[in-house]
Amino acid sequence: MRVPIYVLNMRGQPLMPTTQPKGKKLLRDGKAHVVQRCPFTIQLNYSTGETRQPITLGVDLGYTNIGFSAKNDKLELISGTVTLRKDMPQKLEERRMYRKARRRRLGYRSPRFNNRTRPKGWLAPSNQHRLDSHIRLVAKLETILPITYKRVEVANFDTQKMQQPEITGIAYQQGELQGYEVKEYLLDKWGRTCAYCGKKDIPLEVEHIIPKSRGGSDRVSNLTISCRTCNVKKGNQTAEEFGYSTIQHQANQPLKAPTCLNIFRWRIVEQLGAEHTYGYVTKYQRTKLGLEKSHVSDAFVIAGGSNQERCRRYKVKQIRRNNRSLQKNRKGFKPSIRRQIYKLQPYDLVKYNNKIYRVKGVHCLGKRVVLENPKGKNPSIAIKNVKLVKYGKGLLFTLC
Ligand SMILES: [Zn+2]
Repeated sequence: MRVPIYVLNMRGQPLMPTTQPKGKKLLRDGKAHVVQRCPFTIQLNYSTGETRQPITLGVDLGYTNIGFSAKNDKLELISGTVTLRKDMPQKLEERRMYRKARRRRLGYRSPRFNNRTRPKGWLAPSNQHRLDSHIRLVAKLETILPITYKRVEVANFDTQKMQQPEITGIAYQQGELQGYEVKEYLLDKWGRTCAYCGKKDIPLEVEHIIPKSRGGSDRVSNLTISCRTCNVKKGNQTAEEFGYSTIQHQANQPLKAPTCLNIFRWRIVEQLGAEHTYGYVTKYQRTKLGLEKSHVSDAFVIAGGSNQERCRRYKVKQIRRNNRSLQKNRKGFKPSIRRQIYKLQPYDLVKYNNKIYRVKGVHCLGKRVVLENPKGKNPSIAIKNVKLVKYGKGLLFTLC
């Protein structure tokens, strides 16, 4: 699959990416030099005319995974998935513990009070980290691609538009854009469970309380959510005949507490200066294009992608460089702060025998380093024989 090569101008600003053969030629002719290996980025050694086509970046926000995809009219230019760190709450808890113990050792500490107000827009630290990660990812992509528009999904459906559709009489049309929005609304309203058997986490369908064949309408007040089995079993009966007399009453009630607006998502929109879209639009487009359900294809659709040639994906991992580590004493007593931090740490990139390796770890009190060898055993090398190429920290891109 195609892997674009990212190009910077002499001032380090991103230009339109190029193809591998063209990039290779530039490097061979000495017209450019490498600035980054992954995503492969080169910088031109001469000034050039700069034409840029509009590029749209789509970001699929997530709790554990972020999908991203940028495209112009003809091509997808970068895409991939970021796996977010899951250990934030645990790490924060640990820090709290150590800090508490450290402060307790202090002989006297002046009393503190009135210091418990939270600044406006405060987020729980784990959520703050999540938000920062999204912003950081986009900032990173902006260093290699001249992104014009950014687009983000904020909710499954438009709460403004879907205010009390039971009264306004919005109708359901299967397979149409409107239908997708109504379905998302109904899923939220019925708690993503079958209204009849109460099953969860199974494919759910929109179901007519009074069947259409018996004069039931397509309006939201006549619709509920059910699983395939119940839908078939119910057949041509009304919900009341099927033995569920309260369903109709429930269906007439609008969705309570108009779905708490996802502050987190709107924050990202605000901070990125992005456009927003809704989940039902993404779902509709994705089904229409016949794409598989994944973070990357969602991001591609959010960016407005359709028939653009796709490119190879990146897998992005967040790496934490250990700058301050706490270590148990060798004899298992009190924890102490390790004074020396080894120069090389996991995920750093090093050169050994003119080959590039990733570091697995350091041992022998920092005298030897274990390198990652994709084929076979991981060799242990004297640390003085390897040369650092790049620290592995922040967002680590790998092609998959
Ligand atoms: Zn059911």
